[in-house]
Amino acid sequence: MSYVAAIDQGTTSTRCMLFDRQGQTVSLAQREHRQLFRRPGWAEHDALEIWRNVQRVVPAALAQAGADERDVAALGIANQRETTVVWDPGTGRPLAPAITWQDTRTSELVDALVAAGDADRIRATTGLRPATYFAGPRLRWLLDHVPGLRERGEAGEALFGTMESWLIWNLTGGRDGGIHVTDATNASRTMLMDLTTRQWDDDMLALLGVPRAMLPQIRSNAERYGDCDSLLRGVPIAAAIGDQQAALFGQTCFEAGDAKCTYGTGAFLLVNAGTERPPDTDGLLTTVGYVLGDEPPVHALEGSIAMAGSLVQWLRDSLEIIPTAPQIETLARTVDDSGGCTIVPAFSGLYAPRWSQEARGVIVGLTSYVGRGHLARAVLEATAWQTWEVVEAVRREAGIDLAGLRVDGGMTSNHLLMQMVADVLDVPVQRPLVSETVCLGAAYAAGLTVGFWSGLSTLRRNWHRAASWQPRMDPKARRRGARRWSHAVETALLAARPDDEDDED
Ligand code: ADP
Repeated sequence: MSYVAAIDQGTTSTRCMLFDRQGQTVSLAQREHRQLFRRPGWAEHDALEIWRNVQRVVPAALAQAGADERDVAALGIANQRETTVVWDPGTGRPLAPAITWQDTRTSELVDALVAAGDADRIRATTGLRPATYFAGPRLRWLLDHVPGLRERGEAGEALFGTMESWLIWNLTGGRDGGIHVTDATNASRTMLMDLTTRQWDDDMLALLGVPRAMLPQIRSNAERYGDCDSLLRGVPIAAAIGDQQAALFGQTCFEAGDAKCTYGTGAFLLVNAGTERPPDTDGLLTTVGYVLGDEPPVHALEGSIAMAGSLVQWLRDSLEIIPTAPQIETLARTVDDSGGCTIVPAFSGLYAPRWSQEARGVIVGLTSYVGRGHLARAVLEATAWQTWEVVEAVRREAGIDLAGLRVDGGMTSNHLLMQMVADVLDVPVQRPLVSETVCLGAAYAAGLTVGFWSGLSTLRRNWHRAASWQPRMDPKARRRGARRWSHAVETALLAARPDDEDDED
């Protein structure tokens, strides 16, 4: 058998890729799905539409490669994390729209948990700080709002899962014997799993009022869950892993201290933290990096940045300063610096390491001198300095000094930005030849399970550098830049305050 297949069920699209033994891309098929915004703050997907897209992209990727299922050694699945699906195992139909990771409808629920003093307990068990980001509160919201869901869940007539669970259930037969499993990385984002035992935690289930009968079984990231039933008939499903962890794996960050950052709509920096559960920190999330079969789990520290590429989109679509995203680089290169202005893109608060739902975006340091070029530069600098804040938290709170950063995602085609990242972090930044690191990571995990690849060292040899950037910023300038950034962030943290005062009048 010549190939390993991977499905990346992402936020905006679903893709299927085939890889050969060298880890090279053989084919890629992709389909977008609808983003449903029925109310402000809500963001939903149709799980059935996503399953139909899987049924289209898999045969398309096979056809492109001139292959059929007999050529495929295994299937790995990576997925958008935290997106919550509930379905009826009798009909195979979702019982509500899937609530995506960007959806903030659970903010009151989360605020109530914090107000009740449960944050520390949640942190100690799950490694997560209570936030609308995670799946468990969404399931609670569904239990409270979908008529009869709780009773059905208790009776085993309604199942919960994140996207990989939903897809594996469908791929292994659905109504006709589909298996109901999740993996440790996805389960670690529910706020329901004990990060130390990697099992559902009774205390968390009670806190969120979730019936255990609805939950999938938690498995490792690389093992044979079952075989495909119709699509890719007979091919073992041999890996499931959350997309950011898949990128960490695809970037072959196998040693403690290895780090990657994916620069897309948001930016997600993950650091391999080794096999011991790291102590909780204030600024970072502790999560499962990956678990290969029976081997000890590898933990990860994660710093998520809500806005990176989306700030570029804002410059393009709302301010209309650039016609296309890549043109930000041309515009930013017309000036030498940002002319003293700093943009903090806290459009809907700040994630790591500040974790403020109240912060709002600011542009500070405006003078008549500041023009379009300076704004473009400040937009790119915002991504670089946000990365710096996360890396500082990794250093300060976890005692890990990064030796380098591996990068992927749409924004990494921007050389100026990648140079800025190398400069402010003061470490080399490297981009691999295969940029589809999420699919690659899922394929790697699946291929390891079935012996398509012999071990991690083989995978490491497959990693080839396409580009690298060396730091060359003067330390004084870096310190000055860091001070200016930190000052601007303080302003963003204060930005929402006047409204609060009005409320008290
Ligand atoms: P996602 O996977 O989150 O959809 P991608 O990895 O496809 O994102 O990256 C798309 C994002 O990258 C968009 O937000 C876009 O604005 C940004 N982007 C794409 N090309 C560039 C570029 N050359 N410079 C800066 N930003 C870019």
